[in-house]
Amino acid sequence: MKTIDKIYVNGAFVTPHGTELFHLINPSTNQLISQVTLGDEEDTRLAIASAKAAFKQFSKTTKAERITYLQRLHEAVSKRESELVAIMVEEYGGTLQFSKMSVSNAINSFTQTIETLQNFDFEKTVGNSRVRLEPLGVAGIITPWNSSNSFVCSKLATAIAAGCTAVIKPSEMSAMQTQVLVECLHEAGLPAGVFNVVNGRGDVVGAEITRHRDIAKVSFTGSTLVGKAIARSAVDTMKRVTLELGGKSPNILLDDADFEKAIPLAVMAAYMNSGQACVAGTRLLVPENRLEEVNAMVKAVVEKVKVGNPQQEDTTVGPLVSKKQYDRVQQYIKLGQEEGAQLLIGGEGQPEGLEAGNFVKPTVFTGVNNQMRIAREEIFGPVLSILTYKTEEEAIEIANDTDYGLQAYVSSSDTERAQRVAAQISAGRVLINGLFHDPLAPFGGFKQSGVGREFGVYGLEAYLEPKTVLI
Ligand code: NAD
Repeated sequence: MKTIDKIYVNGAFVTPHGTELFHLINPSTNQLISQVTLGDEEDTRLAIASAKAAFKQFSKTTKAERITYLQRLHEAVSKRESELVAIMVEEYGGTLQFSKMSVSNAINSFTQTIETLQNFDFEKTVGNSRVRLEPLGVAGIITPWNSSNSFVCSKLATAIAAGCTAVIKPSEMSAMQTQVLVECLHEAGLPAGVFNVVNGRGDVVGAEITRHRDIAKVSFTGSTLVGKAIARSAVDTMKRVTLELGGKSPNILLDDADFEKAIPLAVMAAYMNSGQACVAGTRLLVPENRLEEVNAMVKAVVEKVKVGNPQQEDTTVGPLVSKKQYDRVQQYIKLGQEEGAQLLIGGEGQPEGLEAGNFVKPTVFTGVNNQMRIAREEIFGPVLSILTYKTEEEAIEIANDTDYGLQAYVSSSDTERAQRVAAQISAGRVLINGLFHDPLAPFGGFKQSGVGREFGVYGLEAYLEPKTVLI
């Protein structure tokens, strides 16, 4: 068992004042793998003070200096790529495929941010004025467990690019990944205090970050429920907020789509990271007169989905992160049947031979009505719902009939038609005929999926404050 008993404040690993212990459990075996000492409010305040002191100098660094820092961070994290992947698999049961992609995204976020920074002007003429874009101050970065390092790295890279300093509170469930990542970040040799990392509970360390007057901005990725609490708390000091929240993404299969290609992609979109993804395509919308055909095709694809040991390259669905999450997903599978949806494959209980971990049977409901809770609430497990529509207009109406608006998927053999449909969907990103990610394009949610955008120029501007100077 590993012991993690340090936090990172003012350029050094220090013993926290907090004494609460958190136990990390391997979700594949439910055995204890690590004991973490959590920081408290006092640790958070010291981290904020250190970031505030560092901001004085760091806000004056040149673009070229910050590019050098980002290059050094990129090199340092790259060196331990395979170790970071292995820990991600062990710590939260991320499948090997997903963990490799996630760590690679983390590493690439430094170079992508450099690319954005190289082409970015911090001063421009607008009307008769000079407009300077100045760093906001100390950024509070709060991240979830489900792709921890990629969120920490991309947010930190953007804060640094802007000239901000940071206090980071990763999910307590990612403490082992965080430990190795912070060792890498430390090795890059940035000035003390530019970034600080405090392990701790959301309602302790996270809450202190969101209410502290010396935090200028909070960048949060996590659930909509916590995002709302953060926005409420942040308003007292008028902090800027970027909130990347939950989703219930629609996947519209138009009648002219190539079903042979689109259906395996739809299953992948629903089951990525074992269904524990904010962008999971959990509502598959199909033409009513093709339902039987789609049911048969989806069932055939899901029968072949490999569930089990996340360390194996061909595993698609690993365990869910915790016993709590397992129980929650089981409740939704029960609820779907009570609500009158038809179970096409999967169902309650564990797959045979996988009783030791938090494994869930890949599940598909068909005959789902968009008013059912399984179609409206984020389940965060391998559960796909199939719904039907009669016309293209109705498909768009159902797709948009949700409180969320993070991502949507459209499949069609006519890309102009798909783009016309995409234009009518209320979501921050629409993927046509595939699963893609563009790290330079803005990413974020409509409606209750969030506020603001990350990545590229839009992401960078969210750490800056325009100042107009008239002479
Ligand atoms: P969560 O909201 O429970 O926790 C996220 C982070 O917030 C954790 O670090 C947690 O400790 C902290 N936190 C909890 N309460 C807090 C409080 N009162 N004040 C401040 N911080 C607090 O989410 P999770 O279970 O870790 O992650 C899953 C959720 O994240 C899902 O809803 C998913 O959709 C969402 N998510 C969104 C995106 C996106 O880009 N939009 C990406 C990944 C995950």
